[in-house]
Formats: sequence, structure tokens, C-alpha cells
Amino acid sequence: MSDAKSYVKKIQEQLHEKDPNQKEFLQAIDEFLPTMVPFLEKHPEFEEANLLALVSEPERLIQFRVPWQDDKGNWQVNRGYRIQFNSALGPYKGGLRFHPSVNLSILKFLAFEQIFKNSLTGLPIGGGKGGSDFDPKGKSDSEIMRFCQSFMTELARHIGPDLDVPAGDIGVGGREIGYLYGTYKRLKQYDAGVLTGKPLGFWGSKVRTEATGYGAVYFVKHLLNDLKDDFNGKKVIVSGSGNVAIYAVEKLQELGANVVTVSDSNGFIYDETGIDVSLLKEIKEVKRQRLTAYAEQKESAQYFAGQSVWDFDTSADLAFPCATQNEIDLEQAKLLVKNGVKVVSEGANMPSTLEAAEYFIENGVLYCPGKAANAGGVTVSALEMSQNSQRLQWESEEVDQKLDDIMKNIYEACRDTAKEYGEENNFVLGANIAGFEKVAKAMLAQGLV
Ligand code: GLU
Repeated sequence: MSDAKSYVKKIQEQLHEKDPNQKEFLQAIDEFLPTMVPFLEKHPEFEEANLLALVSEPERLIQFRVPWQDDKGNWQVNRGYRIQFNSALGPYKGGLRFHPSVNLSILKFLAFEQIFKNSLTGLPIGGGKGGSDFDPKGKSDSEIMRFCQSFMTELARHIGPDLDVPAGDIGVGGREIGYLYGTYKRLKQYDAGVLTGKPLGFWGSKVRTEATGYGAVYFVKHLLNDLKDDFNGKKVIVSGSGNVAIYAVEKLQELGANVVTVSDSNGFIYDETGIDVSLLKEIKEVKRQRLTAYAEQKESAQYFAGQSVWDFDTSADLAFPCATQNEIDLEQAKLLVKNGVKVVSEGANMPSTLEAAEYFIENGVLYCPGKAANAGGVTVSALEMSQNSQRLQWESEEVDQKLDDIMKNIYEACRDTAKEYGEENNFVLGANIAGFEKVAKAMLAQGLV
């Protein structure tokens, strides 16, 4: 075994030993660390500095109690977290997730991925993530407000526009960011740059809402362009029906693709005439309803209750998983390959299990991992920070163009780095090495901190 290989194995074993129960974090580690071998063989100075051990350890973990009162007057309590994982490249940056599954393992995986995603954007942002096991489903607007106020009452002391800048993720959108921002302002001072994903009326960036979905499509646009191909007439499977999925569908259709599915945690929709994006927006963004409402209003739509869209046996060209982690397992990956899917672009974070991702790569699927393909959201977040510092708001065209350019750079970095290390089309390896290199260089230059 080469030096680099045994070094990587040693770090992996140490991390497994230290936190054997952190399943998702260890999955992210097991995906990332082995791809570092060829890089370390070329750059032994990073191994000499033990940088893999350093980068796998969060700089700071914050956990706190979030007490709040429900509409019936009952006292409730949830756990709040903020993981400040790495600040080598800038202030900690990453979203807040409100979902009952949230725990330390899930947030550590998300924050770890965020470090390299943020590095790939080329913008000055470190990696972080936070959230709560609070379940927003079925909560009234006032309950959401009281929860956000309580959450920020503690979080405020740990964040700041040059320190740590949270944004949204699953369960946290413009409404929640508004309430969080209001409380921060009351406790501290006016500082628009402390949160991103703000509503447009108070210093949110244009195109931030659309950015993650659009970005995942732009990534593939540049990939297809290399192959002298485009989206015209392509049949696409999309999962999810939140912010990422909605705007992936919108951009895909604008570029000529036919998107036939969307899903939520209760089931999925198959609409062979193409998903009606304005109806989807009305149901999800305005009425905050479930997808059953889509099926009720659209005759051509079929609703499959209690089923995963990834078990749906239908031919397709492209797949955009935009729901959540580990939504595609090995069997489902096999079905996608059998059905002709040539490109998988991850709008969600780590939606493919390790085995599924390996299967895609081994079977020639152009697999675009989340940390590269879904970097559009945090890209526009960083552009929102720039606008807030300037006290200016840029026009949509300008933000959208910058987003497209940055997604092109990210795609090219993944492509060229994979090629440089003799693993053409292995965008996981390309993203990991390209993302890590910048962080590692900065860490080395900053000394042992
Ligand atoms: N939650 C998003 C992500 O996974 C966005 C983070 C941000 O905008 O800071 O990248």
C-alpha cells in the first residue's frame, strides 16, 4: 500500500472509531478521503502537515436548547445546532435545516461537504451548517415565528456578517429567514449581511431563490455543451418539490427538456405532458400544500402514494435528485442505468448512497455530485453578501450571468482535475480535489490553528 493510501486509511479508521454512530458524517468522510490518495501522492506536504486529520475536525460545534410555546399554550423544546467547520477561506457559510431528522451527524456531513462546495465557488467563504430537529410541517405561522425567534435568541451571539453567515436549507425559506433576521436585528443591530436568502424587500439578492435549481441545470448545460449536446427533447426525472426542485424544473423546461416527475415525502407525481411549473409554484409556495393538490388539479397527472420516484420504471435521459440525502440506493441506481439515464445532477446534498454513486461512475453515467452541482445556492448567497456590503442590489440578469459563469468554472474545475489525475469523468474525484486544494493551501499558509 502506498504511503498516501495507508495515511488515508488511518484517518478514516480514527474517525470511525471516534464517532461510530455518526452514519451520515462517516459516509461523507468515506466518499471524500479515498479520493485524496492521488492528490497526496503528488503533494506530500499536505500529508506531512496531517491536513486530512485537521480538515475532518470541526473548528467549533455549538448545541443549544430552543424552548418555544405552541398555539395550545404547551411548552415545547427542540435542539438547535451550528457547526462552524472550517474558516480557512472566509466566514463560516452554510444553511440552516429545520427537519425532525436533524442531528449532529447529519449537520456534520452537511457542514463538511459545504467546505469544499464553497471552495469550488471561488468566493471567500468557509464552511458551516446548522439547524434544528424542529418539524415545521403542520405548524401555524405564529408557531414558526415563535420558534425562529427563540432559535435566533441563542444563535445571535455566535454569528455575524464577518464571522458566520447562515442561510436556508430544508424547512428554512424566506419566511423563516425573515423572522430570524428580525430577531437578530433586535438583539444586535442592523446588519443585512448576517443572513442570506433574505426576502427581496430587505436586501435579499435577486435570483437567490432560483439559484440552487438553476445552478444544477447550468452545470449540466456546460457538460452537455462539451458533448455537443443540449437539453432539447430530453426526458428528465426530478425528485423533490421544494425550492431546489421547482427551479430546476423551471430552468430545464426553459431549455427545452421535458420534466415528467416531482415528489414529496408522501409520494410522487408523473405528468407525461410535463410538470406545470406555475401550478407547482402556486401549490408549494403560495398555498403551502402537498403534491396531492397538484394531482387533483391536473388531469394528465398521476399520483403514486407512498412510493419513491426512484422505483418508477420508466425510460429517461437525465435525473435530478433534489429532495434529500440517501434518496437513491444501489437498486434504484441500477434501475436508472437500465432505463437509459446518462447524467445524474444532484440538486440535493448527498442524495445518492456511496454504493449508488460508485455504480453510476462504474457504468459510465456522468455523475455530478451535490457539492459541485448544487453550489449555485451558496454562490448567490455569497453574491448577496457582496451586495449587502456594497449597500447595492444588482439586477437579475447580472446575478444570473455571474451564477452561470461560476457554475461553468466549477464544472470545468471538476472536469479538468479529474482528467489531470487520470480519472476522466470522475467528477467526485475532480470536485473533491479541486475543492480541497484551495482549502488545504490556505490552512497550511495559516499555520497550525
Ligand atoms: N443550504 C444551501 C446549501 O446546501 C445553501 C447554503 C447558503 O446559501 O449558505 O448549499
